Amino acid sequence: MKKLVKYLFFIILFFGAVSFFLLRQPSFQDKLLDRAVTRLSSPKSVLPKNDALTGLVCGSRSPLYDPNRAEACILVKAGDDIYIFDTGNGSLKNLTDWNIPWSKIKGIFYTHLHSDHISELNEFHLNTWIQGRRNEKLKIYGPEGVQMLTDGIELAYTKDYIFRNEHHGDFIAPLDIAGFNTQTINLNNPVLIDDGNLKITAYSVTHDPVDPALGFRIDYKGRSISISGDTSYDENLIKNSNNVDVLFHESMSIEFLNILNRVSKETGNIVGEIVTIDVQNYHTPVIEVAKAANKANVGHLIFYHHAPAPRTSLMEKIMYRGVDEIIKNWTASHDGTMAVLPVDSDEIIISLIK
Ligand SMILES: [Zn+2]
Ligand SMILES: [Zn+2]
Repeated sequence: MKKLVKYLFFIILFFGAVSFFLLRQPSFQDKLLDRAVTRLSSPKSVLPKNDALTGLVCGSRSPLYDPNRAEACILVKAGDDIYIFDTGNGSLKNLTDWNIPWSKIKGIFYTHLHSDHISELNEFHLNTWIQGRRNEKLKIYGPEGVQMLTDGIELAYTKDYIFRNEHHGDFIAPLDIAGFNTQTINLNNPVLIDDGNLKITAYSVTHDPVDPALGFRIDYKGRSISISGDTSYDENLIKNSNNVDVLFHESMSIEFLNILNRVSKETGNIVGEIVTIDVQNYHTPVIEVAKAANKANVGHLIFYHHAPAPRTSLMEKIMYRGVDEIIKNWTASHDGTMAVLPVDSDEIIISLIK
């Protein structure tokens, strides 16, 4: 036994000395760097490769701050193509961390024009333009007012587009496709895409005074997803989400907001005191979300846009108390919660990207 310990000690000492020596050699350092850069330059995407409809939460919080979550964003992958629903603050970092292929993003959809849903559009434009090498302007679909959003970004970034084109040339930064191809959604013609396999339909939800506010239903080869956007309890959402495999629905905890309200009062935070009451009339309490999902007969309910977002698993348990009694299959999402719906199957595979 003593001998074995002695041998082990000398082996560890030997490899320690070799590593110490090698790590100080420029040629060995260069090899390590080369390997690391190669790995970073050919990243593996976290998205499934098989033919499926996938929904991935790229932002799970409301404007109420949480350091570990981005604001509203849902990525939908149908076959090879990717569509983004809302681009809240922090969502671009998530997609970058997860190596989402920018070239596959075929359009961005806006549920409504609140800042926590639109704030990173400028960066999504840049990434799809340069990294993604798209061959046309970025397609944007949104409610009335969305043209002002895209016109405003184009105006603000006029110089940026020109400087990048002058520096990198037409191959990397072609000016003719800088900017947006914007479609204002008219609910009299709610089907926005229908190519035989993929159908994306807009529907109205209630988020007064935000009007119009939209939800979206995505159907792909027999599988389906519905995304609520921001809404209070809404029968139209239930109608349009009928029998979908997965419903992504916003959620609000009245109890948590009331605690925040009390603490705001006690600490003299006037803004907090007013806002924690204001928001209660245009979001959906957790239990009502579960009831809506149950009524719509959805396969799996995924809560997102938590107002406020639970910071610990205990807070999550408290916030979602009572949901089990209403609906069997549900998940309180984090950034990275993913639902994969393979075609020709009834499977709903829920996972969490770390
Ligand atoms: Zn919101
Ligand atoms: Zn909103």
